[in-house]
Amino acid sequence: MSLHEAMLYEKQEEKKVKCCLCGRRCLISDGGPGFCLVRRNEGGILFTLNYGKAVSAGVDPISKKPLSHFNPGSLVMSVAAAGCNFRCQFCDNWMISQDKEVSGKLFPPKEIVKSAKDSQCQGISYTYTEPTIFMEYAYDTAKLAREAGLFNTFVTNGYMTPEAVRTIAPFLDAATVDFKAGGDPDFYKSVSAVPSVEPIYESLKELKLNDVHIEITNLVIPKIGDSMDRIKQMATWIKDYLGKDTPFHLLRFHPDYKMTTLPATSVEDLERAYMTSKNAGLNFVYLGNVPGHPSENTYCPNCNEAIIKRFGFEITQWNLTSDMRCPVCGQQIPIKGKLYHSNMRFPYSLF
Ligand code: SF4
Repeated sequence: MSLHEAMLYEKQEEKKVKCCLCGRRCLISDGGPGFCLVRRNEGGILFTLNYGKAVSAGVDPISKKPLSHFNPGSLVMSVAAAGCNFRCQFCDNWMISQDKEVSGKLFPPKEIVKSAKDSQCQGISYTYTEPTIFMEYAYDTAKLAREAGLFNTFVTNGYMTPEAVRTIAPFLDAATVDFKAGGDPDFYKSVSAVPSVEPIYESLKELKLNDVHIEITNLVIPKIGDSMDRIKQMATWIKDYLGKDTPFHLLRFHPDYKMTTLPATSVEDLERAYMTSKNAGLNFVYLGNVPGHPSENTYCPNCNEAIIKRFGFEITQWNLTSDMRCPVCGQQIPIKGKLYHSNMRFPYSLF
């Protein structure tokens, strides 16, 4: 189960292979691993080492991804496999994303789908680590999930090749694409070991082209990643290329992993980032990791009525009409799917 031939690679001379799954496009010599450490060249064949091995699985509300405009109130089975193609020094899942061993518990695609159905989930989310680098596992699971009537979502750093996007897109319903520090290329180089941010923008365009529902997050990091100019640039790019109705979540940073000396983001800075993004022309901006803040709510872009009220991951009030319109002015609100009334109030882990 754990050694599985990889998708999306090209054979080269001298038994080298070129991996075409993520923006790094590693050229890997015979016997060597890719940068992510979960793909290995054995005799000129590229194998994925984390297929069928989950390092985390549990039931989450969709709002935790975060996805605020996609099947609100639904539950997802969250699944992760080991590894990452980034080296973020602040990663809050570093124990599973940066583990040098390819660990995990056997959890085949069929079992994931069965667990999701048994747990009354409406979908599966490939999350916590980077789903791009467990593409084969996610792909097989997503196909089975679709057949079983479940939706699929990725929570991703977006560092996919266009080929990878086109491979998963037929089975992918939604993606949360996570930026850090307003997409500052120098930050990505020095803090996350990412040579170029361009592949993220390319894969976002490809996701849009393939009609995948997109929500964007941006982690606002005090001192080193809180430039309002950057946030303005990012919000403007989102408006121009993905549309002004694309939900944009500005997330509060918490010190973690190798970055424990920085403070948490102040609420004042988050509010500044919120106003900057709204002023750049985005209709749906949210603050994340600040439960109880009014910017967790959805406001009608036409009349400013609070149409969905939230506290943390919970919807506390739903004021939309049955055809997703503002009850005051009739403005159509872009929500994909439908409202679910799930009973579970808190996430729980299978392992
Ligand atoms: S997934 Fe990315 S990091 Fe891993 S081997 Fe392929 S190109 Fe390299």
